[in-house]
Amino acid sequence: MGTPAHRPTPVNVFSFSRLKAFSQCPLRYKYRYIDGLSEAFRSIESYLGNIVHEVLEWMYARRDTGESPTLDAILDELARRWQASWSEEIAVIRVGNDPQDSYRSGREMLTTFYHRVFIHDRSTTVALEQRLHARLADGIAFTGFADRIGRTANGQLFVVDYKTSSREGDAGDFSEGLQAPLYAASAMDRHGDATCLAGYHYLRFGTTNWRPVTRQQGAGIRARFTELARQALLATEFPARPGVLCAWCGFNRTCPAAQVPGHLGGGLNPPPGGTAPALW
Ligand code: SF4
Repeated sequence: MGTPAHRPTPVNVFSFSRLKAFSQCPLRYKYRYIDGLSEAFRSIESYLGNIVHEVLEWMYARRDTGESPTLDAILDELARRWQASWSEEIAVIRVGNDPQDSYRSGREMLTTFYHRVFIHDRSTTVALEQRLHARLADGIAFTGFADRIGRTANGQLFVVDYKTSSREGDAGDFSEGLQAPLYAASAMDRHGDATCLAGYHYLRFGTTNWRPVTRQQGAGIRARFTELARQALLATEFPARPGVLCAWCGFNRTCPAAQVPGHLGGGLNPPPGGTAPALW
């Protein structure tokens, strides 16, 4: 076992993002999850993702109370939240890009989602942003938030995760291959179903990859997650793994191993101000 100082705090609870951080750069994982340091900035991509997720949750919450939010109302909600949550910690990583580029992307993603999915969606909501929790082996626990759990018109349980990433993934990706099926396994436990569809919806493309997950497959996914968490828990060395993601790492101003190319240096310089730029 690693020394107590090398164990995640406060308890051995692993979220998917925690595990992903360990896989991408162990040093970043150490800074954030063991040393408890705060990242100096937040990328605008992360901000955009959060705000779009909030609006999607708002859309389904409205629909579930019998309302039919229009596209105009949805885009107004985006504008309101974008302005209200803006902070000086947000950094535009790609030098020369404007915050309005990201805001426009958010409008485009929600507009596509509205036309391709939302107005045709006959599924019922089981839960929005539901916390899922599972006890795994060796005192390790998993926790995470499922974007939307629902049932199709045929009653099939599903879990869908919304992605604002600039490319579509596949089941071979660390995220898509592990996160959605893991959430599906927890949803099956919680709601008592024998199968669950695990979906990744790519908002920039308007596409969804669905994968059926059985309880047996869910057990296999949990075993894999547990093994990866155990590796992180037992680690005593946390080597830097510099690469393109350094540009989006909030420790890149102080990390001695950081490699940030000039055109992605927006996080290296303190952002200019605390008020949201004009939207139009
Ligand atoms: S700047 Fe790069 S090498 Fe340093 S912790 Fe962040 S991701 Fe790792």
